[in-house]
Amino acid sequence: MFSPHNFTEKFSSELLSLLSSDTEDAKLLSCVNELAEAHGNTVYNEMLLLMTGKHFGTDLSKIYWHEVIEHSCKIFKPEFAGRGFRPALMDYLCHNAGALSDPRIIEGDYLYNITKSSVTDGLTGLYNQTYFKKVLEKTIFNQRRNDTSTFALVFLDLDHFKQYNDRCGHLLGDEALRICAEIITSNLRDGDIAVRYGGEEFALLLPGLDRHTAFAVAERIRKGVESQPFQTQELLDSGNLTISGGISLFPDSGSTVEEILQTADKELYKAKERRNCIYSFYDDKRSHARRPVKSLVEYATFDGAIYRAALSTDISERGMGLGCESMIAEGSTLSLKFARPYWPENIHITAKVRQVRRKDELVFVGLEFDETLTSVDELLAHHKVSLATSGR
Ligand code: GH3
Ligand code: MG
Ligand code: MG
Repeated sequence: MFSPHNFTEKFSSELLSLLSSDTEDAKLLSCVNELAEAHGNTVYNEMLLLMTGKHFGTDLSKIYWHEVIEHSCKIFKPEFAGRGFRPALMDYLCHNAGALSDPRIIEGDYLYNITKSSVTDGLTGLYNQTYFKKVLEKTIFNQRRNDTSTFALVFLDLDHFKQYNDRCGHLLGDEALRICAEIITSNLRDGDIAVRYGGEEFALLLPGLDRHTAFAVAERIRKGVESQPFQTQELLDSGNLTISGGISLFPDSGSTVEEILQTADKELYKAKERRNCIYSFYDDKRSHARRPVKSLVEYATFDGAIYRAALSTDISERGMGLGCESMIAEGSTLSLKFARPYWPENIHITAKVRQVRRKDELVFVGLEFDETLTSVDELLAHHKVSLATSGR
């Protein structure tokens, strides 16, 4: 029986498995009873949804379910015992309850196949984007209600795949996508979900993983693709077909589907500046703690522009926060000057604008340096001295 491989769907898949052709009525009914005792009356609703495609609501479903059991005993002779529940359900819902008006009879295997093809991608066999978004919504919804589970979302996108297609042909392109899907699934655990998100883009939902483990999984996939001898890949400018990735974490990177997708997408966008690498939002934020520092920094929005003054708020080896009076575009590059006497030496560095937030008259900007700033300790030591000096 088709069972979606993820934790939020586990419950539905347990119910689905009860509908397999080798489950006799007695077993079906007793299992549903047990599940209802454990999880509540929603089990009847889920079960009828699976069997009819209609939501009847928790209370009504429970009533229908028990009336169908009685109905089945009335309309079927004892020799049909064990196989009467489903036909009785159909009869009851159509003729007694008037709840179905245009029912069809469908074989379970056929339903299984069409259900599967509606949620998977034909080329790779991975889940499709529609299904993925549904699971993501459900996961976040469950988390808000009672669950405390976390998950990582990874976006992966093949590098220069257009060039691979153009130079090696679409058939080999398709083959490369299939191979990538295999590399991805071979690196996942039971309960993880992999989807083909778009043309040469994949997404992963990794339940319960912290950022380090999620990064390790994405890195294994990246290395797997890097070392795969894709046919005729030597025709690429780089000589090697590779993949890049961006990671976000729920709930740390956002609390809605949109925020989680957007963060992973932003990280992927950053990774695409280098390609063949994985970026995770928290790499910047946590592994390089930002330390508070208030000092003058000059910035220019493009080469040759006049430098304006801003006030730093914090700094790390990887980036800094600035407060300024003019609006700055997210994604743009700034030239920064740390000048004497506010800093121990004149430093010139460029940085990408990652976040912009307006508060009253001020604009607060989160920057990521293009190169690591190794002298942060010295900069801060000087700053303490100069503050002490100016305070005298
Ligand atoms: P980047 O490194 O920036 O991601 O560049 P890219 O060339 O991979 O990205 P771009 O979006 O320009 O091109 C994606 C290409 O993926 C375009 C299309 O030829 C190819 N593609 C998308 N879907 C399929 C598919 O189903 N089969 C094949 N063979 N190619 C596909
Ligand atoms: Mg793409
Ligand atoms: Mg691409």
